[in-house]
Amino acid sequence: MRKTIIAGNWKMNKTVSETKEFLNELLPMIKDVNANVIIATPFTSLTVASELTKNSIVKIAAQNMGNRLKGAYTGEISPLMLKDIDVNYVIIGHSERREYYGDTDFHVNEKVKLALETKLIPILCIGEKLEEREANETKNVVKTQIVEGLKDVSKEDAKNVVIAYEPVWAIGTGKTATPEMAQDVHKYIRDLLADMYGQEVSDEISILYGGSMKPENVVELLNESDIDGGLIGGASLEAKSFAKLIEAGK
Ligand code: PEP
Repeated sequence: MRKTIIAGNWKMNKTVSETKEFLNELLPMIKDVNANVIIATPFTSLTVASELTKNSIVKIAAQNMGNRLKGAYTGEISPLMLKDIDVNYVIIGHSERREYYGDTDFHVNEKVKLALETKLIPILCIGEKLEEREANETKNVVKTQIVEGLKDVSKEDAKNVVIAYEPVWAIGTGKTATPEMAQDVHKYIRDLLADMYGQEVSDEISILYGGSMKPENVVELLNESDIDGGLIGGASLEAKSFAKLIEAGK
């Protein structure tokens, strides 16, 4: 039985002091909640966030990582460095990385494999652009992103991957996929994972929805049978709205 995951992606927001302020407000509000909560902070806030959330239900994620373990790779962060500060998850292949920083399916695959090797849980982001949806290409696009992103990932490791389906046209735009539209793609992804790894493994993999998820639409989205939680940008930046999403996800 898959447990619902509510994951916040802060993107390039919040200084260390803003991170402390946010967590000091959020943690008392979710003290009695039993849910899987993840917050992906900027690299600079990871240490303080993992220290402050140590005895809570919140797990910490990085928003990206390097594709090597160590060496002469200026500006990169190794998964071993993330492990060392108790980071458990890492977002890989977010559409903003693909769009603005040139992350291709090849890079995404390298990082997914390295994350798994170092026992970080990758949150593999996939999703179509507006023109691809309009051209009826949604399923082909997500299929390629999954098949390429999980290339050479074993059945055993695949169980430890989280998928986030995020239609690019719904990210940060206020436009949300309807629950039916999202469920249709989530079901397609579940079936594809079953073809790749067998039904049992596919049934274990959490598939999150992302794209303008907020307190007003979270319940109907989570009601769909293949939507196992959310990856939330804007609505995760304010403690009260994020707490409402967590409450809906328990
Ligand atoms: C995201 O960045 O992953 C996201 C879904 O953003 P938003 O919730 O703001 O659309």
